[in-house]
Amino acid sequence: MLKHKKIVLFCVAVVLVLFTLTFFTAVHWTIFLLLFLVWLGLTAWGSFDIRLNYFTKAYSSKPNSTTKEIALTFDDGPHEMTEKVLDLLKKFNVKATFFCIGKQIENNPELFKRIISDGHLIGNHSYSHSENFGFFSSQKVVDEITKTNKLVEQLSGIKMNFFRPPFGVTNPMISKAVSETKHLVVGWNIRSLDTVYEDENTIFERVKNKIKPGGIILLHDTSQKSVNVLERLLLFLKSENYSIVAVDELLNLSAYEN
Ligand SMILES: [Zn+2]
Repeated sequence: MLKHKKIVLFCVAVVLVLFTLTFFTAVHWTIFLLLFLVWLGLTAWGSFDIRLNYFTKAYSSKPNSTTKEIALTFDDGPHEMTEKVLDLLKKFNVKATFFCIGKQIENNPELFKRIISDGHLIGNHSYSHSENFGFFSSQKVVDEITKTNKLVEQLSGIKMNFFRPPFGVTNPMISKAVSETKHLVVGWNIRSLDTVYEDENTIFERVKNKIKPGGIILLHDTSQKSVNVLERLLLFLKSENYSIVAVDELLNLSAYEN
């Protein structure tokens, strides 16, 4: 059973117990309010931290790994910066995973094709990457996933199995949608926050301190800053004797449908 169902059952049980108690003694209404706030807090936390597997099973790392291998993932492209990312990856002879937005693929089809011809792995990152994605109905999420999958199949013949929700948000609608489209949800356990922090050093140090075997690093191929961090990261991982692998190899899962 997923965590959010356990929490809901637990809260319902506590409410029933409290309700029964009201027949025998006075239960202050703030107790109910407090319980509601705890549930709300856990729900919000569960929605935004994909590592928790709160609403849906997500693959966010290779657990308990002792092998020095790690996966680099890039979200939100293809973007004009993708070219520089691809050049760097080629220079270091490294294979990465790109979670692409459907709309961006339409805008940059040649870059998209280069990601594949350079030997990298691709995954679905929705069609619109809407800021309201967390409030979409399950049907709308299914439409977003299907549209991007079809687009990619037309351009490359690839049928993608991996889906990474925008902002890493999960909820019951997204959970229902991925079970319908049969996509595997891929998260991360090393978040660079390269779209939040301005300073390159801060981003690099943040990632460096979190590196461990079996990890999945989240970066974005959308800024020069991220490209600079990537170069430092590649040098660091090399000096630490890490091998960089695509997500399917790390997790031993099929990224594409045959
Ligand atoms: Zn994104």
